[in-house]
Amino acid sequence: MRKGILTTYETLLPLTERTPRLSLCEGNTPLVSLKRLGRELGVDLYGKFDGLNPTGSFKDRGMVLAVSKAVEEGAKALICASTGNTSASAAAYGAVAGIPCYVLLPAGKVALGKLAQALIYGAKVIAVRGNFDSALEMARQASAERGLAMVNSVNPYRLYGQRSASWEICDELGAAPDWIVLPVGNAGNISAYCAGLEQYKELSRISRLPRLVGVQAEGAAPMVRGVFVDEPETVATAIRIGHPVSADKARRAVELTGGEFLAVSDDEILQAQKRLASQEGLFAEPASCAPLAGLVRLKEMGTLPKGIRVVLVLTGNGLKDPDAAVQTIARPIEIDSSWDALSEVLPL
Ligand SMILES: *Cc1c(COP(=O)(O)O)cnc(C)c1O
Repeated sequence: MRKGILTTYETLLPLTERTPRLSLCEGNTPLVSLKRLGRELGVDLYGKFDGLNPTGSFKDRGMVLAVSKAVEEGAKALICASTGNTSASAAAYGAVAGIPCYVLLPAGKVALGKLAQALIYGAKVIAVRGNFDSALEMARQASAERGLAMVNSVNPYRLYGQRSASWEICDELGAAPDWIVLPVGNAGNISAYCAGLEQYKELSRISRLPRLVGVQAEGAAPMVRGVFVDEPETVATAIRIGHPVSADKARRAVELTGGEFLAVSDDEILQAQKRLASQEGLFAEPASCAPLAGLVRLKEMGTLPKGIRVVLVLTGNGLKDPDAAVQTIARPIEIDSSWDALSEVLPL
């Protein structure tokens, strides 16, 4: 039975007797073997399908812990800035906890599915005329001045809960894979994976750390370029971030594991999204397809070792952002309502 991560990983998380065990049965997502793409790339390839979490992204793993701790500490309301998925998750767990949730979103830059989620879960949604980075500054200020519990990834419980994905991968494979490839926006998740893997190594549950590879969009690639980006731009809205809060932790994660950061174009991201869906049956949102695009890039450059075991982290569900997907794919064929018309478009 699915139990949610606070119960499943109770002994590995910073819980006390007074921490409510909130749950929407998050976590325990499928690790899908990607046979066709793996064959084409010459590696043993898996996708960690975190788009199957309750609100459709990995953010639920950290949010369940952050909101449970906020409740334990007596918070009266939650606040976050978001490119979309954090707000959807915060709103849902705010509903579970029964406390109000305020979300600051960059106006006009959030995928419709994510906006719909925040609204339907009952959050107070505030659209900020600015980008994510400026919305985050405003959320920090609101937290400091009005005492709302900040549930962005600057909240350490978020990253702690997100460690659970790395544990599930190692538990299921019975060992650490050779590489784990993730999209990088605010750089929290790659840092959380590193911390989770280090914790597992200390506990001797794995014998070595996998190489962590962080993939950014070319228009929002501060980790690759080594300088912050003031006007980040990419179709992958979940990683449209120019000033990653966890930049230092992420750099350490990549150094410690012998990994790397790389950037891919929006076109490569959308191509990867289409490939993942049409060749493997998995529909992930654009940001989540940056890792596959990165792997394809490394293969083309001849720097992807043969036969290694690679896990792609598919961070969010494709249904959140259908507009991005229909940009690249063929339109439906429209016909008259008759057998003659249908028979013309069917194979013989
Ligand atoms: C938040 C998010 C990311 C980026 O994760 P960071 O921790 O900000 O680097 C990537 N993909 C999706 C779908 C997300 O929601």
